[in-house]
Amino acid sequence: AKEGRKSNFCFFSEELHQKITNRLELERDLRRAVGQGELELWYQPKMNLSSSRLIGMEALLRWKHPVYGIIAPGQFIHIAEETNLITPIGEWVLKEACRQMKVWLEHGMEGLSVAVNISFRQFADHEFPELVAKALHEAGLPPQYLELEITESVAQNAMHAISALTKIKELGVGVSIDDFGTGYSSLSYLSQFPIDRLKIDQSFVRNLNASNQAIIRSILDIANHMNITVIAEGVETLEQVHFLQQHRCQEAQGYYYSKPLPAEQAFEYMVKHSGK
Ligand code: C2E
Ligand code: CA
Ligand code: CA
Ligand code: CA
Repeated sequence: AKEGRKSNFCFFSEELHQKITNRLELERDLRRAVGQGELELWYQPKMNLSSSRLIGMEALLRWKHPVYGIIAPGQFIHIAEETNLITPIGEWVLKEACRQMKVWLEHGMEGLSVAVNISFRQFADHEFPELVAKALHEAGLPPQYLELEITESVAQNAMHAISALTKIKELGVGVSIDDFGTGYSSLSYLSQFPIDRLKIDQSFVRNLNASNQAIIRSILDIANHMNITVIAEGVETLEQVHFLQQHRCQEAQGYYYSKPLPAEQAFEYMVKHSGK
């Protein structure tokens, strides 16, 4: 028994050691990645459910690691948030998305907008609205072509959120609440926050059981009364599309339409689906 315990301990500490070195390695690599141009934005289409036309693209971060290949944000965004690397990364994402949208605009994509995910840490920075203004200005992109996706977690500091959102709205930039329904904040925030769009979290869409159907219906009901557009994310099947259309959800996004695509492929998708 003693032997067993000992080897268990060794196994555990080795695993732990690896976790820690991997994390430090990842952190060091991420620091380098920002400077070396290893970050990329991929784009996932957002569709109008009644016209089936493309309305915009969500920018999703990818890391092209020289050894590990393409790493999805779930693997590194939390490290970026804990180490403040989210500041240079978030700034790069914002500028890159604005630059790309400006290029698409020059190719005739006037009906579309680009959506950028904003970490609650970036949003908490008092200079954030100025950073958004600067990114638009540098890219020469009119504000209506940009939308920011924030999560309910920003509601933790409601006073700050209202003031920052008001400044962002004054710039003319759109705001969406991402992962709606998963946070601990409540629908009551909706009336206080100047927002344009709600994204129903994929967990509700994925499993359309009776209670998730009821949740989606009530979100739609309230949002419609408040003149807020609703987009469902994580839409993978025609059944889900039909359910959402039946209940007059305006927009959808998900693998049913397309996975996130590198910029060039995203442009091809746009040309096909923008209705021009
Ligand atoms: P999110 O903003 O909720 O983005 C949706 C995620 O679901 C994306 O994963 C997308 O690829 C995936 N997805 C889209 N449609 C479907 C579908 O039909 N089925 C399934 N199973 N998945 C679908 P991704 O790209 O790995 O991003 C994960 C999260 O990382 C994002 O969740 C967002 O919170 C964060 N993120 C991504 N890019 C950025 C960024 O530039 N900045 C910040 N701060 N966070 C980012
Ligand atoms: Ca998002
Ligand atoms: Ca989401
Ligand atoms: Ca999310």
